[in-house]
Amino acid sequence: LVAYNRPRIQQPIATVAEYNNMPQHSVRAAIVALVRNSDLFGLRLAIRQIEDRFNRKFQYPYIFLNDVPFTEEFKQGVQALTKAEVQFGQLDDESWGIPSWIDLDKYEQVKQTAQYPHGNKDSYRKMCRFQAGYLHRHPLLQYLEYYWRIEPDVEYYCDIEYDPFLFMKQRGIKYGWNIAMTEFMDTIKTLWNTTSQFINKNPHLVADRNMLEWLVDRDSGYGGCHFWSNFEIVDLSFYQSQAYQQYFDYLDKAGGFFYERWGDAPIHSLAAAMFLDASEIHYFNDIGYFHPSVLSCPKGASKQGTCVCDDTRSFVQDGHCTVRYKQVRKKVLEPGEPYGVHD
Ligand code: GDP
Ligand code: MN
Repeated sequence: LVAYNRPRIQQPIATVAEYNNMPQHSVRAAIVALVRNSDLFGLRLAIRQIEDRFNRKFQYPYIFLNDVPFTEEFKQGVQALTKAEVQFGQLDDESWGIPSWIDLDKYEQVKQTAQYPHGNKDSYRKMCRFQAGYLHRHPLLQYLEYYWRIEPDVEYYCDIEYDPFLFMKQRGIKYGWNIAMTEFMDTIKTLWNTTSQFINKNPHLVADRNMLEWLVDRDSGYGGCHFWSNFEIVDLSFYQSQAYQQYFDYLDKAGGFFYERWGDAPIHSLAAAMFLDASEIHYFNDIGYFHPSVLSCPKGASKQGTCVCDDTRSFVQDGHCTVRYKQVRKKVLEPGEPYGVHD
């Protein structure tokens, strides 16, 4: 009953001053998702777990965005699960659209012949472009320092007894990830070519201790490993930097969001690998997490501690993208620089 009767904060949190006035937060951060009205049940499932495992203690606000207005049913269904503030926002036409330079006939041909998942869909491509280039620029995120991305139907299996935002802030970490895997290569045929052109034009933007070797092989190019962006905890100054913006604009002009089906995950990963110092990337391998159909469960977690996941099914923690990440990181950093909570 209390959940339904408690007063709602009417003023949206929108300014630095308002965030700073929330004494329980030493970090201006939020849990964020782009979602559809039809995702209500899956999102409720995710929020229930985030609340139980983490946010009940920390009370970070949620921000949900949609290309169409949220229904009252959606808003109420979400708000009933949390005492934290929830904000709902809508996208503008530029951030959810097809740019003027896209050749629509060529794009139509692509949609009719594409063989990969979601190959015939406008909405999936717009979603990827939005998450790659616009999410971090949405007005509701303007004053945030960090976001934690969630999605419908994701699951969280472990009590999170510390504040990952604060953990990152105290250590200067800009990108936190949980699952690394390979991409459908047909969706990103020219992504690496375009990216390497960008690097050739802007060599000064590449960090000295970068992680490109994790992704790119001298002979065969980009191998497709990427951080799965349905989980990412990010210092937004990274995406809001000029370097990232220049990179996104370069990719957007090349048209691969539409002529292919470039995902925001490989783009975020290439950007992190190029622009960040390896020590600014963190593997949250202590957070048991599932996105249909991939589980990441800490070793030993099925029989002890507060996680409830089956570590024998957690192949991704030993997957080749994860293993290679650790190898490259070890090479790039000094001995003793940590690469995960448990490493
Ligand atoms: P997948 O994880 O790659 O299979 O893609 P999802 O279907 O889970 O979509 C990724 C995220 O974008 C989810 O949070 C979806 O709710 C959201 N999303 C996907 N398509 C749309 C759309 O057309 N409109 C809105 N508002 N959200 C979308
Ligand atoms: Mn998903």
